[in-house]
Amino acid sequence: MDSTFSTSEIDKPRSNCAIVGVYGNNEAAKLVYLSLYALQHRGQESSGIAASDDETLHRHAGMGLVTNVFSNEKVFESLPGRIAIGHNRYSTTGSTMLQNAQPFLVHFKHGSMAISHNGNFVNARTLRKQLEDEGSIFQTTSDTEIILHLMAKSQAGDIVGRIKDAFNQLKGAYSLVILTRRKLIAVRDPRGWRPLNIGRKRNTWLVASETCAFDLLDAKYVREVEPGEVVVFDEHGERSDFLEEKAPRAACVFEFVYFSRPDSKIFDENVDRARRRLGKNLANEHPVEAEMVIAVPDSSNTAALGYARNSGIKYEIGLIRNHYIGRTFIHPDQSVRDFNVRIKFNPVQGVLNGRRIIVVEDSIVRGTTLKNLVRLLRKAGAKEVHVRISSPPIVSPCYYGMDFPTKKELIAANRSLEEIKTYLEVDSLKYLSLEGLLKSVPHEKGGYCTACFTGEYPIVPEDMMDKFANERRNGHVGAHSMPAAASHVPEHAKKPETA
Ligand code: 5GP
Ligand code: MG
Repeated sequence: MDSTFSTSEIDKPRSNCAIVGVYGNNEAAKLVYLSLYALQHRGQESSGIAASDDETLHRHAGMGLVTNVFSNEKVFESLPGRIAIGHNRYSTTGSTMLQNAQPFLVHFKHGSMAISHNGNFVNARTLRKQLEDEGSIFQTTSDTEIILHLMAKSQAGDIVGRIKDAFNQLKGAYSLVILTRRKLIAVRDPRGWRPLNIGRKRNTWLVASETCAFDLLDAKYVREVEPGEVVVFDEHGERSDFLEEKAPRAACVFEFVYFSRPDSKIFDENVDRARRRLGKNLANEHPVEAEMVIAVPDSSNTAALGYARNSGIKYEIGLIRNHYIGRTFIHPDQSVRDFNVRIKFNPVQGVLNGRRIIVVEDSIVRGTTLKNLVRLLRKAGAKEVHVRISSPPIVSPCYYGMDFPTKKELIAANRSLEEIKTYLEVDSLKYLSLEGLLKSVPHEKGGYCTACFTGEYPIVPEDMMDKFANERRNGHVGAHSMPAAASHVPEHAKKPETA
């Protein structure tokens, strides 16, 4: 993640994104387009599609929303063929660079290839340096290009071999779709960090970050791409292979908390169910007397519903969201962000005036949203404001693709619960416990990465190692010791509760 890196790397792409692939349909590019449209919430900075007509790969990509990038239907005439992949890229602080828009399309000695990537490599810098020392020339600042160089150097006889060679060297979070002239290939990292799903509509195979893309196409969900799996779709049908590295699963639990859409299935679970359980467990852990429960739309709607149902306090719509402005994070500096909260939400005065309210929010990152919202709620006449957060305090940055800032900017990393409560000017503030979070999500398929809540990193990123090495050299190792490798499957949380 760029904001945690040095400024020279600030134009590196953020990597929580949407990826999509279609195999075996004459309108492959159009199906990819619709899937990207369904997955717009996973990235609004740029969008792109690459398609193969069996001989040549074509690509169209641009900055902005899917409907802007593909506003002219004629574009699809330049994307013919039965196989296509797509990508929506998440917004970045500091850079909006067209050259980092995916899919990437390259021509190398083994032919042409396009690639869409969701995730972050934690050893990217080391590998890039190695490759550059050996003579490779990079055209972008993106990690994704490293994959291409590693594949180009591989001596393996076929594409799956080259993919395995490349990913046996790369460490971190990645879900990808790769397009060659005749194949669609899906790859997921050994820890299964980011979601990736397979769908089918008659003879058409689909791959997508979230299943809401399949719904729009009226396709059926088949299964997840398993952690470490390489799935190939070609004229021989579908077949699967596995990367060498075996590791405990570390699925990103924040996908359930915030990132995925509630109507999607990810990690083989409905996001809606998991999110309602978050609200239910939050209500059990932190009840408070009030007249109504309201959500901060849209990201906490489902958790707020769970809270209301379990507390017996009525659910009300107290905030109206303007949907046409994008997410608040798209603006890099704080003052713009403050303003964004005001244009994004408007309180419903008739509902709130004179009332004691519980506001359920999915997470606090910097605290900007809630700080401004609470002011708006008070202005609308709210008598008491009790804030309930459906996840634990975010205390550590994410190195695996989630759009969190540095530790310095994470409010819970720097202030106590009491201090945050005072800062937000609320009557009470409570967070869901880590235990409550893990009790809300299924564990049949393995554990979760909870690094943002615990500081325990399943793979310690190279930048963090540098930081600790420096601190040790300078003699000030702080209160935070070197984080332990971790993937969370606590004993009590082997089975989720029913929603
Ligand atoms: P804050 O205003 O505290 O910095 O951020 C909290 C708000 O941002 C919450 O409303 C939450 O739904 C949302 N949020 C949490 N994580 C992310 C993220 O990774 N990206 C974006 N765009 N919003 C987030
Ligand atoms: Mg929100």
